[in-house]
Amino acid sequence: MRPIVQDGDPMLRTHAERVPLEKIGAAEIQTLIADMHNVLALKEHGVALAAPQVGVPLRLFVVAPRVFEDDDQRDNKLVYINPEIVKRSRKTDNLEEGCLSVEGYYGTVPRAQRVTVEAYNEKGEKFTRGASGLLAQIFQHEIDHLDGVLYTDKAIETHKIENE
Ligand code: ZN
Repeated sequence: MRPIVQDGDPMLRTHAERVPLEKIGAAEIQTLIADMHNVLALKEHGVALAAPQVGVPLRLFVVAPRVFEDDDQRDNKLVYINPEIVKRSRKTDNLEEGCLSVEGYYGTVPRAQRVTVEAYNEKGEKFTRGASGLLAQIFQHEIDHLDGVLYTDKAIETHKIENE
């Protein structure tokens, strides 16, 4: 199992590289996606994971299926390759946020209420997904990871949690 890289590791401060589209189908990328889903499934509080968090500086993140449990749209896209925010609302909310790479802490982060992301799925097909609420927060948090940014950089406060 790939360990989750923790804050302080330079990997989390790297600007990740785009995945060449012709490589999406390659075993290297498909195995990485499967491994990331497996790592995430073991984390009770984890909702998403970016490739740099498992030590791979590529622009890709996965979302846990449980995020979509209450979503009856069935548009539950779990893999986002070379994602880009193409639209974001001007309105922001201050949201509680944590990160599997910053264990033991939570913080409050201003995030756009709505964002639209363009990305490629695990089959190399391009798609667009709009989101609000938790999913919009996830998109912003994970794409920040791909740019070497942690939520603690943007948080208006952070606090330690006593028992996880
Ligand atoms: Zn994170």
